[in-house]
Amino acid sequence: MYTKITRREIMQQGGLALAVLAQPFSLTSFINFNHMTDNKEFDAIIIGGSYAGLSAAMALGRAMRNVLILDSGLPCNRQTPHSHNFITQDGEKPSAIAEKAKAQVLSYSTVKFHEGLAVSGRKTDKLKDGKVGGFAITTQAGEEFEAKKLVFATGVKDIMPSIPGFSECWGITVIHCPYCHGYEVRNVATGIVANGDFAFHYAQLIHNWTKALTVFTNGKSTLTQEQADKIAKNNIAVVEKEIAYLNHEKGNVRQIVFKDKSTFDLKAIYSRPEFEQHCKIPEMLGCEFTEQGHLKVDMFQKTSVPDVFACGDNTSPMRSVANAVATGSLVGAMVNNGMVEAEF
Ligand SMILES: Cc1cc2nc3c(=O)[nH]c(=O)nc-3n(C[C@H](O)[C@H](O)[C@H](O)COP(=O)(O)OP(=O)(O)OC[C@H]3O[C@@H](n4cnc5c(N)ncnc54)[C@H](O)[C@@H]3O)c2cc1C
Repeated sequence: MYTKITRREIMQQGGLALAVLAQPFSLTSFINFNHMTDNKEFDAIIIGGSYAGLSAAMALGRAMRNVLILDSGLPCNRQTPHSHNFITQDGEKPSAIAEKAKAQVLSYSTVKFHEGLAVSGRKTDKLKDGKVGGFAITTQAGEEFEAKKLVFATGVKDIMPSIPGFSECWGITVIHCPYCHGYEVRNVATGIVANGDFAFHYAQLIHNWTKALTVFTNGKSTLTQEQADKIAKNNIAVVEKEIAYLNHEKGNVRQIVFKDKSTFDLKAIYSRPEFEQHCKIPEMLGCEFTEQGHLKVDMFQKTSVPDVFACGDNTSPMRSVANAVATGSLVGAMVNNGMVEAEF
């Protein structure tokens, strides 16, 4: 059930979580999952070992919980050369941030990391240790792991539009977020490839970073008259021509080429592609989704299925490393909190 939580419960749970986070714990050696020697039953399985999953694992490792992280190695920002707007790591390579996090998390001996794609999940009546309830997760390689709690930190998959050149420039000069990459392309000729409300919102926002701005609706504009008037008032042109492809050099966009063969020179494009959940298992387990396609969670990142939690991009339109880390950390504390309540 997707439950409402009282103020008192929030204070109780928050207090317990903070108390647990304050416990010191000495670091032990780095340990990966070992098929020959390791038990396949865990307190929690975290599916997705990028920022959100590693952050959840950090809290759980420090709570001395047996945790398995399953990761298929495809974070959404893998094509971006530099990640920004996350303090202490500004301008760092995305993979370097994740590698550092992974090394720190795996210093906790109860946390195991296994490379692999989780392909199915089911509820189990009984775990192998005889305890009631839990989940079994199967990987593409046919391994099966069990746990009392599940965490989905699986992110989302961006679906590239059928504009040749777009996917090659994605995360390099075709960007979705000005807070992540806008500063690096401030005051340069910039396009917004979007229509309707998204185009309007982007025009309003990106006008802060550059005044050399043009909206490309790639077909007939669906802006309302009021939106079109406001855009025009700010000296932003709207081009309705259909886009044939993007001319670029190694992901650095140079021109939009239209179907009528005309061109437009620019150096950056903002666009927000469609997305889908990266992992189908929450759906298999009966988790509810929002209208936008995110996993529905309460303020403690609990999904609509008991003992199943989610964090990071799969639960929120606020896509950032900071948000993934914050929600992951909360999930780690909340998973442990449920366990201490049951054990005490
Ligand atoms: C192009 C681009 C550039 C960005 N730049 C920035 C930036 O500069 N600054 C910033 O703060 N944010 C940036 N973001 C946003 C940021 O990258 C995301 O918010 C962040 O990566 C979300 O973290 P996550 O852990 O939720 O998901 P992800 O990082 O996407 O990781 C999800 C992980 O789960 C794994 N996974 C999924 N399904 C399964 C499965 N079934 N089994 C096993 N593993 C699975 C994936 O392989 C992946 O490793 C950018 C995003 C994009 C798309």
